[in-house]
Amino acid sequence: PILRVAIMGLGSYGSRVAEAMKDCKQAKLTGVISGTPSKIKDWQSKYSIPEKNCYNYENFDNIKNNPDIDAVYVITPNALHHDQVIRVAKAGKHVICEKPMAINAQEGQQMVDACKKANVKLLVGYRMHFEPKTLEIVRMRKDGEFGKILFFQGLSGFTIGDPNQWRLNKQLAGGGAMMDIGIYSINGARYMVGEEPIWVTAQETKNNPQKFKAGVDETIQFQLGFPGGAVSSCLSTYSMNSLDRFFLNGEKGYAELQPSTGYGPIKGRTHRGELDQPHVTHQTVQMDEMAGIILQGKQPIVPVDGEEGVKDMKIIDAIYQAVQSGKKVELKL
Ligand code: NAD
Repeated sequence: PILRVAIMGLGSYGSRVAEAMKDCKQAKLTGVISGTPSKIKDWQSKYSIPEKNCYNYENFDNIKNNPDIDAVYVITPNALHHDQVIRVAKAGKHVICEKPMAINAQEGQQMVDACKKANVKLLVGYRMHFEPKTLEIVRMRKDGEFGKILFFQGLSGFTIGDPNQWRLNKQLAGGGAMMDIGIYSINGARYMVGEEPIWVTAQETKNNPQKFKAGVDETIQFQLGFPGGAVSSCLSTYSMNSLDRFFLNGEKGYAELQPSTGYGPIKGRTHRGELDQPHVTHQTVQMDEMAGIILQGKQPIVPVDGEEGVKDMKIIDAIYQAVQSGKKVELKL
């Protein structure tokens, strides 16, 4: 079976996903949802999308009556995900939602609940969960090759340009670098260490309050504590380019990835040598795997469901709380 997908939000990442889906074996782009008629025209001719599968933000609830669309992939600014995902669920279609799934854990949980109620699946666009070198490290950790895990470092950042973009608008982004790129280190800490954190501490640095207004974080360092005794030390920033590194260490050995979460090729090594798994187009593999999850109930090695997304949102909430209070915040995931 083929998962027939409509993309909502025809921006830069939506375009990347659409291109990558050309090579999918189990997923196909069959519809679009956009507020810009000229973009719809463009995509229609590029991907042979019939008029009847094109929607805008006013009428997309009608997707309910469209038998040629199984799922909607929401790729819009963060703060819009909550309402859009719930509307898609109410229209009876499965939902794939970009990260961060929402702008806080409460909204994320409401999305999970709405999809459950509508009996549709909710997945979050965590493309690294299908990346071969990442999965090899997860396998080695599970097989005990690093011994007891004691340390993870995640560094995630890039230098952001245009000060007027939605990513620097609290209303649309829900925050700053943490929501956008820091989430990779949060999520990475969890699948690399293989446990859920029990506490968070965090410190914020803001060198450019003009560009990074109230509620939009520029740089945050944060630490996560894990029940098995591991700690992780991470940094999220909008002010350093090409900051993209994971490092995991246990009693017996290490793994490192740099770049660790970019579009690739991902590069890395462990105490055993270079990681040589093949480079794949992340979004192609992700969409084929997600088709298997949605249509055949396949279980991914690292989860990508709504609950997984809510855990990351709870950690983000706790990080912002720790920055505000200067105190350690206990977590229960
Ligand atoms: P973008 O600005 O390039 O695209 C956003 C799209 O949403 C645009 O087409 C815009 O027209 C549309 N839109 C609809 N309503 C809007 C509104 N009210 N205000 C502004 N734009 C509106 O952004 P992007 O880089 O494509 O990011 C979209 C989402 O995808 C974000 O949640 C982002 O975090 C996520 N993303 C994920 C990855 C990944 O690797 N998984 C990479 C990039 C972006």
